[in-house]
Amino acid sequence: MNLSCPICGSENTQKLTLIYSGGVSNSTTNTVGVGVLGGIGFGATKSNGTATSALASKYAPPVKISNAGANTCTVITLILFGFENYITAFAFALISVGLYALNHRHNSNEFPKLLADWQKQYLCLRCETTFKPE
Ligand SMILES: [Zn+2]
Repeated sequence: MNLSCPICGSENTQKLTLIYSGGVSNSTTNTVGVGVLGGIGFGATKSNGTATSALASKYAPPVKISNAGANTCTVITLILFGFENYITAFAFALISVGLYALNHRHNSNEFPKLLADWQKQYLCLRCETTFKPE
């Protein structure tokens, strides 16, 4: 497998999965990311005990779509039914069903492909091109 960059030819490339796992830490120190890629990953942020370097967050894996919005619409539907506002409640019910369907389709069909694609990608540390080695 040829791991050199297809754009600039540099052999200084790294797998995105390694960049990501190297830039995320559950510790609460501020030093996370300094050792990653000789300073490129410097600039760790701290939130809820998880630190993510700027580089790690830039090349983070795809995420599943949350059902939070659909859940909110469902709650609104139930409240509107409670107030006997059936037409608006019906509209919100349709929106929730639509959102659940869209989320489910993304999470079960597209998400696994996006994740598999991400896991194969490499980053050139010279020109920042991401590529999949042949
Ligand atoms: Zn390159």
